[in-house]
Amino acid sequence: MRSFWEQESWLSFDVAIVGGGIIGISTAIECATRHPEWRVLLLERSLLPTGASTRNAGFACVGSVSEIASDIDLMGAEAAYVMVQQRLQGLTLLRERCKHYDIGYREDGGSEIFLEDHQSLQRLEEVNQLLYPIFGSDVFSQRNDLIKAHNMSKNIRTLIHTPFESTLHSGKLIASLWAMATKLGVHIRTGAEVVSTDEGNSSVELLVRTAHQDVAIKAGKVVIATNAMIPSLVKNALLPEILPGRGQVIITKPLTNLALHGSYHFDEGYYYFRALGDRVLLGGGRNLDIEGERTPLHTTTELIQTALEIMLRTVILPTHTDIEIDLRWAGTMAFTTTKQPYVAFVSTHTLVAFGCNGMGIALSSTVARDCANLLV
Ligand SMILES: Cc1cc2nc3c(=O)[nH]c(=O)nc-3n(C[C@H](O)[C@H](O)[C@H](O)COP(=O)(O)OP(=O)(O)OC[C@H]3O[C@@H](n4cnc5c(N)ncnc54)[C@H](O)[C@@H]3O)c2cc1C
Repeated sequence: MRSFWEQESWLSFDVAIVGGGIIGISTAIECATRHPEWRVLLLERSLLPTGASTRNAGFACVGSVSEIASDIDLMGAEAAYVMVQQRLQGLTLLRERCKHYDIGYREDGGSEIFLEDHQSLQRLEEVNQLLYPIFGSDVFSQRNDLIKAHNMSKNIRTLIHTPFESTLHSGKLIASLWAMATKLGVHIRTGAEVVSTDEGNSSVELLVRTAHQDVAIKAGKVVIATNAMIPSLVKNALLPEILPGRGQVIITKPLTNLALHGSYHFDEGYYYFRALGDRVLLGGGRNLDIEGERTPLHTTTELIQTALEIMLRTVILPTHTDIEIDLRWAGTMAFTTTKQPYVAFVSTHTLVAFGCNGMGIALSSTVARDCANLLV
């Protein structure tokens, strides 16, 4: 039996947010900022956030030229334009939110490399013209001089550069958002896995599993922000399809004379790499086993890890002989069929927020804003 004090102060909230990744924490911050009178709870199943937000590559990007050209074909120029605009707005919001924190933001520009000819290379002008009103200048330009300057493989045929791409330190970002939420009075509980929700007339009861006991917590509204894990909590016909996509990553030990600068995309975004101090972080290869990588498991596979290492040694760092892999990991992205994030009530008191489609750094702040708008 619960005491009165436990019920009043520990087990009932105005809003409970499930999932301590970038969407969950940003939503908690939005709610606590707009409604200081609300009791806001954030529940994270692990001791620390262990979803995509602390397993990603830290690209603060609006899209590479091949990706935007493919979006134009897929959804039309207007929708592709709006998507880029949303990403830029999201990054502006995120930077504004974090302006007093060190999130390792570096405006070093980004590049897309091509080993062969690609149809998007004939569309630079079209993409630049489309995006001109957003950036006020050309976004992409051919800069083959950077292939040699960055000491990459001579087999790279074309390099397209943009000054409008940045990188950040994902660990510092999430820690900063976490600190901000705490400062705003958000009640953060880690080691707290929500195993079920039961919606009543005026509130939702969450069954929360901890190492010590199961606890029932009541909330007026619930936001489920558990990324590709949402279907295990929400069994509702209104929930659109969520396609999990695992991303595998490696990072080198410190290297001498590293010439890489900024961030890089390759193979239509299926590979991405960046300099992180004197290390190289490389991820991707999902296209080698699309079906096998549709999983929320955080394990790595030999097939993809080997492909990443080959790419690292032959394309990215062909002149380095001191390459050692320091860490390997994997995380899961949530893709939607529309390529757009999804934020909506799936029942009277339960909202879901997911589907950053591999662009959570750029999109999570607007997703959080949309959540808070719906929660009034
Ligand atoms: C390898 C990789 C590289 C990426 N690179 C980039 C990049 O460079 N730039 C970019 O913008 N995006 C990148 N992304 C995508 C980006 O990381 C995601 O879009 C974003 O982190 C999604 O945030 P989220 O809050 O929805 O999910 P998550 O960060 O996954 O957070 C969900 C949280 O919910 C918790 N949880 C799950 N179930 C429960 C439960 N039942 N109860 C309580 N808690 C629960 C999990 O532990 C987790 O902490 C990458 C993703 C991956 C995997």
